Amino acid sequence: MVIGILALQGAFAEHGSMLTRLGAEHFQIRQKKDLDREFDGLILPGGESTVMGKLLKDLDLFTDIRRKILGGMPVFGTCAGLILLAKEVEGGQESLATMSIRARRNAYGRQLGSFHTEDTFQGIGKIPMTFIRAPYIERVFDDGEELARTGGRTVAARQGSQLACAFHPELTGDTRVHQYFLEMIRGS
Ligand code: GLN
Repeated sequence: MVIGILALQGAFAEHGSMLTRLGAEHFQIRQKKDLDREFDGLILPGGESTVMGKLLKDLDLFTDIRRKILGGMPVFGTCAGLILLAKEVEGGQESLATMSIRARRNAYGRQLGSFHTEDTFQGIGKIPMTFIRAPYIERVFDDGEELARTGGRTVAARQGSQLACAFHPELTGDTRVHQYFLEMIRGS
């Protein structure tokens, strides 16, 4: 199994380390020709969604990546990656808009933007959750399902082969959410 990690900006290297620990092959997607490689799943990392969105357009990756996801390519978005997947972003920011969630950016305010907690992730159990200027999911619609919630907010969801987390599983030592994504790919 080979995973492509979008590596334009943000915390992409950490996803690579997680996949290495799980024995999954991976490579970085930096330019259009990288999409010619064969891969089975895609990771959209955390970072700054406005910058990543702009780079996706500037490098002419936006449409091809969107098409791949809509065509069923399993995708895992963390934090800014979640915002990129969301069909609705509070404030109307443009996104790939493939997943039936509504994201609210920088949703915890300046002071509380970054924090660490533990809570239950459906199908896994209690996991560590690191939030950095994180969004949360205001609404999951269509056949999307909530997978995790903390402090009364939805922080992870899945819709078919799309997985999104408001927190950063790649920044903890816990590989179970990445394992969950690899199992999603195997099942797809
Ligand atoms: N605040 C960032 C955004 O709106 C997300 C932060 C992150 O990915 N850690 O894109």
